[in-house]
Amino acid sequence: MQYNRRQFIRQIAAGSSLLLTGCSGLQVKKSYSAHVVVVGGGFAGATAAKTIRQLDDTIKVTLIEPKSRYVTCPGSNWVLAGLTSLDSIRFSYQRLSTAYGIDVIAEQVESVDAEKQTLVLANQDQINYDRLIMAPGIDFNWDSIDGYSAEAANQIPHAWQAGRQTEILLQQIHAMPDNGLIVISAPANPFRCPPGPYERASLLAYYCQRHKPRAKILILDHKRGFSKQALFMQGWRRNYGYGTEQSLIEWQSITDNPVIAVSVKDKTLLTDFGDQIKADVLNIIPAQKAGQIAASSGLTDNSGWCPVQPDTAESTLRDKIHVIGDAAIYPGIPKSAFAANSEAKACAMAVVHLLKDKQPPEPVWMNTCFSLLTPQQGISVAMVYKLNQQQQIYKVKGAGGVSSRTDSQSLHREAQIARNWYKSITRNTFS
Ligand code: FAD
Repeated sequence: MQYNRRQFIRQIAAGSSLLLTGCSGLQVKKSYSAHVVVVGGGFAGATAAKTIRQLDDTIKVTLIEPKSRYVTCPGSNWVLAGLTSLDSIRFSYQRLSTAYGIDVIAEQVESVDAEKQTLVLANQDQINYDRLIMAPGIDFNWDSIDGYSAEAANQIPHAWQAGRQTEILLQQIHAMPDNGLIVISAPANPFRCPPGPYERASLLAYYCQRHKPRAKILILDHKRGFSKQALFMQGWRRNYGYGTEQSLIEWQSITDNPVIAVSVKDKTLLTDFGDQIKADVLNIIPAQKAGQIAASSGLTDNSGWCPVQPDTAESTLRDKIHVIGDAAIYPGIPKSAFAANSEAKACAMAVVHLLKDKQPPEPVWMNTCFSLLTPQQGISVAMVYKLNQQQQIYKVKGAGGVSSRTDSQSLHREAQIARNWYKSITRNTFS
């Protein structure tokens, strides 16, 4: 069969079985054994797509993600402190497509029909799948604080999805007066990145110490305690005068008197007991749930998150759809990029086995969350997770824990490991 250039390009764009392989030129590849579609190109989705192709290149993999460049939330607190740029935490999907032969489609998925095993994109294209992996990340419970909304977030950023939101918060911090008050409203559990609000407070304090020394950061917390609390507080004492009159950081649990409303115009929060707190910069991190497409596809339960069978990540509510990353419920495993990457690998392994009617291997998941107290001081919490005979997730005894040493050398070493971890997780996911 003779191809002219236009026919050839059209066929490649349509994801035909003609493949370009390295320098060896054109090869005719046998038809694919199955089609796996992955929705969402974050840490979970991108890793799953890549891992399936690494495990079995007879499976066609399509990754659907509306953004052409993904901005990582890990590292976005570093941007706020001026330690790195937003550009340095942006990643394209080019390597996934050129090095692994993944079809990357820059579109939004609008709906999923689990019965027919099809999904529809915003451009109305329809795609069939044998197995679907959903990794849409989070959405916000906008109604948890009266007056807060997607629109209000343009003035009162959450910066809990990195990119434009990070820029807005950064600009407001730079523009605030020297003695400005930054208020961070931290959500109740479960939410994306449990130590994230406290790393943010630490690094904003670091920034203020240098550029706005009379400023203050107030964390209003909708829970009674938080991840790595003792380590954070020790770090705040050491670096930011925590516990003294001059402290740059103040933390208050407001579980009994939660924030119930916000006035966007006045940057003022209202609590249940009628207290009003006016800020120069308001950073509301709202309560969260699974990304919207998960809910509209019938994958969420009353909690707003997606229940899955942990051994395969298959939804307990819809057949042949797997859910991974922040959107999924993995009891006991935090919602982090590290965990999303780990869940994606276990899910990819399960999907490849299921497509061949084989028993998937027993999964093991890992997580480590690093946080910077200052650019030179880091802390971490790590854990390994397995399944017991009742198919419940348990923490492997002795396999993790929080940073045990807080001498300056150990803190320094952890800060370096945090930076190296960032390089390796992003390479592992997007390259
Ligand atoms: P996401 O990364 O949010 O990816 C979901 C993707 O799905 C998005 O790109 C979205 O565009 C796409 N999508 C959504 N809906 C659709 C649709 N309908 N069609 C197509 N695509 C869709 N974790 C760590 O491990 N270490 C850290 O140091 C760390 N630091 C953090 C700091 C901050 C400030 C924050 C907020 C989070 C941090 N995290 C960290 C947590 C980490 O960012 C998340 O856990 C991780 O991004 C989850 O990955 P995901 O793939 O599930 O979701």
